[in-house]
Amino acid sequence: MTTVNQAVELVLGSVSPLSSEKVGVAEALGRVLYDDVRSGRNVPAFANSAMDGFAVRWDNVDGASSDAPVSLEVRAEVAAGRVSRKRVLPGTAIRIMTGAPVPAGADAIVRVEYTETRGDRVTVFRSDARGSHIRPSGEDIGKGQVVLEPGRVLAAADIGLMASIGKATVRVWRRPVVAIVATGDELIGIEDKPARGKVVNSNGYTLSSAVREIGAVPRSFGIVGDSRRRLASTFGKALACDAVITSGGVSMGDYDYVKDALADAGVRMLFWKVAQRPGHPMAFGRMGRRPVFGLPGNPVSSLVSFILYVRPALLRMMGHEDLFMPVVRAKMAHDVKTAPGLKEFVRCRLEQENGRFLASSTGTQSSGVLRSLSLAQALVVAREDQTLLRKGSYAPAILLDHRARLGQKEMGF
Ligand code: AMP
Ligand code: MG
Repeated sequence: MTTVNQAVELVLGSVSPLSSEKVGVAEALGRVLYDDVRSGRNVPAFANSAMDGFAVRWDNVDGASSDAPVSLEVRAEVAAGRVSRKRVLPGTAIRIMTGAPVPAGADAIVRVEYTETRGDRVTVFRSDARGSHIRPSGEDIGKGQVVLEPGRVLAAADIGLMASIGKATVRVWRRPVVAIVATGDELIGIEDKPARGKVVNSNGYTLSSAVREIGAVPRSFGIVGDSRRRLASTFGKALACDAVITSGGVSMGDYDYVKDALADAGVRMLFWKVAQRPGHPMAFGRMGRRPVFGLPGNPVSSLVSFILYVRPALLRMMGHEDLFMPVVRAKMAHDVKTAPGLKEFVRCRLEQENGRFLASSTGTQSSGVLRSLSLAQALVVAREDQTLLRKGSYAPAILLDHRARLGQKEMGF
């Protein structure tokens, strides 16, 4: 049987980043940068004032104090967005607002708090230094400078940075379109009457949300009954997408046709059982560059296998370098028995205790109980050779939904 680590290696060895595409910067949030972003401009484009005050010649105001104030003639005023046609001549000043271009002749700004204006004259009774409060051209970014490097996951500040240099479009890695196929005669739609023996196709919703959460594009192929012919036909269509995820029909039951139907559709299987719990039946294959994940039908197994295998594969296809969820070390709050020979992922709540994580099971670990995963903040990992996570011992804990969990109710500062 394939171990979890071998399975991850086989999956990641089968995928590589897709092609790139150009998108408007407003649509680039969360996308992975394909190549360098270089600035064609200086930012700021012109030297400008960082203060409301007066543009002056430093030699005129050097040493000004309340005892020895300096009086200057105010020749003009320049607001943000305007350009002064006048120069600052010896013995004069130009009133200037924050963001306005520094007029020719000036080499310092005196802030308005250090002055008193009467008529067309200003008295300066304090000054800072030569060049003070002038933001030089190119202070933020110089022309030709690389501002963002390939592989960068674009954040809000990066989007603004690109806008500031007038970069309207950016080349990023393409996002995979991911086919999602639910299989099982028992499955019904969310709006259907829950007749006896029927189960809502919750995996369709879980998996498309998980795909969307990492920035890939889910495409639902609905529910397919347990018929090898119908499955193969749907898989044939689904394989036009960049990746395929199926759920259900991969175990040893009489109606588990997914593996055969995938083979019928031309998929080459690489493994179909992993030494793990939950999610022991799990098929993986490929057709050309397209990975195909045959996830188990049990809702917990399905999502845990998504997290372990599908997520890193899709991230790699999107050009990401950080493929795995964050892992912390957590202390067990109580004993948890685990299965020998399998890597077990125990759904746990986490508490912080003196800066340490304390893990306690969310209750029944049955792979059908989706609520145990909904309540969980981490999957605590027990190795194949362990049969017990002993109270007080430490184990690796995969942090689930870490972005949301990093929030807190109190401001904290
Ligand atoms: P299977 O892997 O097909 O043997 O299914 C295992 C269990 O998961 C069964 O109890 C199914 O009813 C359930 N199941 C399969 N597919 C889904 C699905 N799409 N949504 C919710 N439960 C499912
Ligand atoms: Mg089934």
